[in-house]
Amino acid sequence: MAYVITSACIEERAGECKLVCPVDCIAEGTSEDGEHMFFIDPDVCIECGACETACPVAAIYHENDVPDSEKAFIEKNRLFYQK
Ligand code: SF4
Repeated sequence: MAYVITSACIEERAGECKLVCPVDCIAEGTSEDGEHMFFIDPDVCIECGACETACPVAAIYHENDVPDSEKAFIEKNRLFYQK
C-alpha cells in the first residue's frame, strides 16, 4: 500500500510533496501516457501522509481512498518506477 498522486497534479506540479517526503520517494517525470507530473514510488512510500497534507490541489490520496475516476493513477505511479 502507498499514497498515489492523481490527475490534479498535471496542471499544478507545485512540488511541495517532494519537499516533505521523509523517504525521498517522489519524483517528477512523464507517464507512459504522456502526463507530466509527480509520482510516488509505492515500494518505498511509508504511508506517513505528509505529502497528502502538503499538496495545494489535493491530488494525493491513500491507495485505498483514490476516487474511482482516478484509479488509473495507482498503476501510473507504479509503472513510472518500473521503467
Ligand atoms: Fe512520502 Fe509519506 Fe507521501 Fe509516502 S505518504 S510519498 S512516504 S510523504
